[in-house]
Amino acid sequence: MYCNYCGKVIQDDANVCAYCGTRVGGVIARKRLVRPRAGRSIAGVCLGISEYFDLDVNLVRLVWLITAIMTGVGLLAYPIAWIVIPEEPLMLPMPAGRPATNP
Ligand SMILES: [Zn+2]
Repeated sequence: MYCNYCGKVIQDDANVCAYCGTRVGGVIARKRLVRPRAGRSIAGVCLGISEYFDLDVNLVRLVWLITAIMTGVGLLAYPIAWIVIPEEPLMLPMPAGRPATNP
């Protein structure tokens, strides 16, 4: 994709242009189906779907539950979605090989 400000080619998943620092993409770039780490009940599948489609998480859970009871599809779909939908990437920088204890 291209930066709207300077017109240079930047990474497709970039939020900020590497050349001029302008915010690009934003909401559209972050619109990915992921399983959020915060607020999940089991594996975050329903939460991820609710955020992706801008729906209420309780509504998604209710629909999933009804579908699971009525047809059994939800019971089968949940573990599949668990595997298929990627986990939300960690926002915090990972400490590379450093011990957690204080010096
Ligand atoms: Zn730019």
